[in-house]
Parts: sequence; structure tokens; C-alpha cells
Amino acid sequence: MRKIFKKEYAKIAFSSDYIYGLPSAGDHQTFDVMKYKKIRDKLVHEKKINRRKILRPYLCSYDNLRLVHTEKYIKKLQNPDYVSQLLKSDAVNLLYDSILEYFRAVTGGTLLAAAYALKYNIPVFNLGGGFHHAHPDKGEGFCVINDIAISVQKFRLLNRVRKFMIIDLDYHQGNGNLLYFKDDPNVYTFSMHSDTWVEIKCLHNKDILLPKECNDDIYLETLERELTESCLGFTPDIVFYIAGSDPYEKDTLADMKISREGMLKRNLYVYKKVRENRIPLVIVAGGGYGEDSWEVYYDFIKYCLQNKY
Ligand SMILES: [Zn+2]
Repeated sequence: MRKIFKKEYAKIAFSSDYIYGLPSAGDHQTFDVMKYKKIRDKLVHEKKINRRKILRPYLCSYDNLRLVHTEKYIKKLQNPDYVSQLLKSDAVNLLYDSILEYFRAVTGGTLLAAAYALKYNIPVFNLGGGFHHAHPDKGEGFCVINDIAISVQKFRLLNRVRKFMIIDLDYHQGNGNLLYFKDDPNVYTFSMHSDTWVEIKCLHNKDILLPKECNDDIYLETLERELTESCLGFTPDIVFYIAGSDPYEKDTLADMKISREGMLKRNLYVYKKVRENRIPLVIVAGGGYGEDSWEVYYDFIKYCLQNKY
């Protein structure tokens, strides 16, 4: 029987390299390494997406890594012991090649998503990425390569984009991006986060601290107020949205109390705010822990696939 697929109003970037490289032990042991595959499989099963139309990225090249990361750091990443320490996982030694490949593949996905979003002006989800703690000369918090910073520098180099916005709603502060772009007038950084792991004090653009055990009402009210204010004075040519699912009440690491409905409202608020002005939008996954994390992304992607905006 012929399969009938509905028209897709958004695209997804994903490849099998996103799964195989990740160890299931270490600091992020509650990270469900199969969650992106679960989302892909369910959407395919429900005929919401055509498997053959999923965007498949190449590994990010070393030349592109050098757009942000120092030569010294890239050299350190060749050492499995260093990567093991960084990810606090002994399993890295065994899986070393595939770990670095994982980060390069997902970064390739963010680059591909941005290229596609700019060319066709359609929202593109990268099922991974948002490594917002990575700095040019060091990695931290399970972020080895800064995929968004690399994408910004790449498209700037290609003269394709002048003004960028990064909206970061992961539970943790996007310290890598905030610091890296702190003196850059053409990159607006917006980070709304808890007080856990607030690494830096120097503020650029918007850096919003939420109260402990934040609920739906406070969260959504703060987001609407602050994002509206941010959008007033800065019109970007592209937006990168780090849609971390760790503010979700079922997250196993974080302490926020945002319901599943609240998470969808949050995501759709950002989505509509960006798309009502027809601005190209790239959505990356950010953090999210525990076996229920995947459902937050699934709700969001399903809506965007079916609704033109
Ligand atoms: Zn996080």
C-alpha cells in the first residue's frame, strides 16, 4: 500500500552518528542517548515525516572547528584521556573516535539546519546540539564543540548573514555563548535559566535568572515580557533557539516545575514570535535528562510539522 505523507512545514536534521558516539555513563548518565531516535521513529511511524526527507549532515570539518576553537584545544581533543576527563567518563577511551565524531556530526547538523533555514525560510530542527557551555579553548558540561558559535562564524564568513540572535531556554546558563559574543554588536544573546551553574557575571544583552522551582505561570510570564523587550530593538536575520527540555517537571537533574503543556506553550511562544516576522529559525535540542525528556521535543516538532507559520 502506498504511504501517504502530509505536507511538512518544518524540517528535521538527524543521522545515525548522533546515536552511536555517546557513552551511557559519566556525568550525564541520566541522558537518554536514544531520545532523538525515539522522536524520529515515532514521527515516521505516525507518517508525520518522510524518513527519506530527513536532512543528513556531514561531519563538521576541522577548518570549521577552527572558526571558533583554538588550535591548541583541537589538538587536546585528539587525546582520549583529555576527552574522558571532560566528559567524566571512562567509556570514552573505548569509544574515542565515535565520541569526537558525535560532536562533529551534530555540529554539522546545526550548520546544515542553518543553511536550509536560510535558503528555504522554513524552521529546521536539529535533533541534537546546543552545546552552549563550550568555549574556544575548553569544553565543559558535556559540551565539547560550540555548534552555534561555529555556525554564526561560518555564515558570517560566507557573507550570508549579518545579525544573529541566540535564544537559550535550557535550564542552565548559556555561558559559552554569552562570553564568546559579549562584545559582538551583531549577535544578540538571550539566556533564561536557573541559578545552578551560573558561570559568569558579565552580562551582554539578556541574562535572566529564574527563581527556584519555577512554575508555568512565572516562567511563561517572564519569557513573554523579556523576549518581547529583546525583540524590540534587534531584528536578526536568523534565530538559533536552544530548546533545552531540562526545565520540564519530569527532568531528573533540574528542579523547575514546568508542565508538559507549559513546555509546549514556551516552545510555541518562541516559535511564533520568530516566525510571525518570517525570520529563519534553527532549533537545537540543548539539555534534558531522564526517560521522559523526549516527549517535550516530540510535542513541539509535531506541531511545527503540521502547522504553517
Ligand atoms: Zn541544561
